[in-house]
Amino acid sequence: METKKTTENEEKKNLSFVEQIVEGELEKGKNGGRIQTRFPPEPNGYIHIGHAKAICMDFGVADRNNGVCNLRFDDTNPSKEDTEYVDSILHDIEWLGFKWGNVYYASDYFEKLWDFAVWLIKKGLAYIDEQTSEQIAQQKGTPTTPGIASPYRDRPVEESLRLFELMNTPDAVEGSMVLRAKLDMANPNMHFRDPVIYRIIHIPHHRTGTKWHAYPMYDFAHGQSDYFEGVTHSICTLEFVPHRPLYDKFIDLLKEMNGETDNIADNRPRQIEFNRLNLTYTVMSKRKLHTLVDEKLVSGWDDPRMPTICGMRRRGYSAQSIRNFIDSIGYTKFDALNDYALLEAAVRDDLNKKACRVSAVLNPVKLIITNYPEGKTEELEAINNPENEADGTHTITFSRELWIEREDFMEDAPKKFFRLSPDKEVRLKNAYIIKCKGCKKDEEGNVVEIYAEYDPTSKSGMEGANRKVKGTLHWLSVGHCKKAEVRLYDRLFEVENPSADDRDFRELLNPNSLTVLDNCYVEGYLAEKKVGDFLQFQRIGYFTIDPDSTPEHLVFNRTVGLKDTWAKMNK
Ligand code: ATP
Ligand code: MG
Repeated sequence: METKKTTENEEKKNLSFVEQIVEGELEKGKNGGRIQTRFPPEPNGYIHIGHAKAICMDFGVADRNNGVCNLRFDDTNPSKEDTEYVDSILHDIEWLGFKWGNVYYASDYFEKLWDFAVWLIKKGLAYIDEQTSEQIAQQKGTPTTPGIASPYRDRPVEESLRLFELMNTPDAVEGSMVLRAKLDMANPNMHFRDPVIYRIIHIPHHRTGTKWHAYPMYDFAHGQSDYFEGVTHSICTLEFVPHRPLYDKFIDLLKEMNGETDNIADNRPRQIEFNRLNLTYTVMSKRKLHTLVDEKLVSGWDDPRMPTICGMRRRGYSAQSIRNFIDSIGYTKFDALNDYALLEAAVRDDLNKKACRVSAVLNPVKLIITNYPEGKTEELEAINNPENEADGTHTITFSRELWIEREDFMEDAPKKFFRLSPDKEVRLKNAYIIKCKGCKKDEEGNVVEIYAEYDPTSKSGMEGANRKVKGTLHWLSVGHCKKAEVRLYDRLFEVENPSADDRDFRELLNPNSLTVLDNCYVEGYLAEKKVGDFLQFQRIGYFTIDPDSTPEHLVFNRTVGLKDTWAKMNK
């Protein structure tokens, strides 16, 4: 008994404050023990790792409490929305590993929202304002001084009803009028100062076409949509804290319209806010990400440098590593800037368990094993993943002529250089111990060939072959490897927090965020691998195959580097 209790308490401690609230309510039997959440993206862009944080919360809390999480597209502004974004969002959520109950659209509620607006007008709680948006803004006041009432505030109900109908026709002029809720122009909460709830937009909607010309504003659609769907917990980010009283207010009025006056506050969906995810060296604003794409400062939404889910997928991040990272930073009530290095550590940690170990030479120089017979080859066994025996092995071919990394050879090496230099021994991974015999240089002094002799008794796995040498190098057989292009990525921005910088964010881009190496070699075995497969180029880092790759022209993306083992060795 005692131990069980402790474990339960331990688990409680690990629950986020949001889950503690939700579970506390479930225990009390609120909402009949039912839990229903939603993830409400606006389909006006591709989702990023910040959205993934909200997704992990919305789906996670429902999953763990036998509830359901639905997807709702908040599609109330046709000028920025598109089905391209809807499709990508569905795909990305699935890829992250979450399953929704239903897919809803705020646009499915346009009729109901319209009826509610009409009811508000008839109740004297909404009116058509024919002022410009600038005039309306000027009259808002400040949090400490009350606003000024619009000259249209007390216009007759009939007039507002007629104009509201007009707003929804092709003849209505955009910006000529809006519908405002008549609430409280002196309220210290600025959202209560007669918020605009409908505006005119003539751009066709991606789902309802040209049926509508008057569109509800976010604050007039979001809470009501939650309510229509039976959401119990409406979890969102901190910037919605000041919207919460209005969220509650509109739902309460809606219930009044429907004659549901019992336990109003108890039965409405409960909005709970947590902190946004922000990452160093990147931006999360959809507007800025749009600019990067539109101005071709990146190759697209899925550019591997982007913080989007599709960008991270293309870069080779696993869904699990993104989820692990989000778990590790947790949910609080304080906005923070999360360190990109933590995300990379989570990626390494997960890929270490998953990636197939292979060899690639990014900056090649030829190594000739002078005492190895010409024309002879040997098939050697390479373990796919030492972390997971079930991943098996593959074969690599050894021969007299090999590619090795240029930086693995030094003619005049310092004492602690445990790689190749004249008269020094190293092991070639999975193969033999070799001793360097010198090199050939061109007229400019560049090394063009390196010579070595192998010890035939030192083959890996051979009896007595584990003679100790300090360095192990990766290599490829010249006649058995494939040429490849390798793309190396670095931070997208040069400054840690581009959003807090006064300069235009475009000026802060890191000019060296992409390096293309087009003279690399990889194992022939990699021709069998697919886009998105997790690979470790031994001694270099984690990589994946890019969608641009073809059998004739292999293209790899560096996902993240390994921890630099040489840093330790060179001390
Ligand atoms: P927009 O500027 O277009 O409103 P947005 O990033 O808020 O962009 P939405 O599609 O409205 O995009 O977001 C859907 C949900 O994802 C919201 O509930 C929002 O709170 C959440 N979300 C967005 N960005 C982050 C972030 N950086 N961290 C955590 N949650 C986020
Ligand atoms: Mg938003």
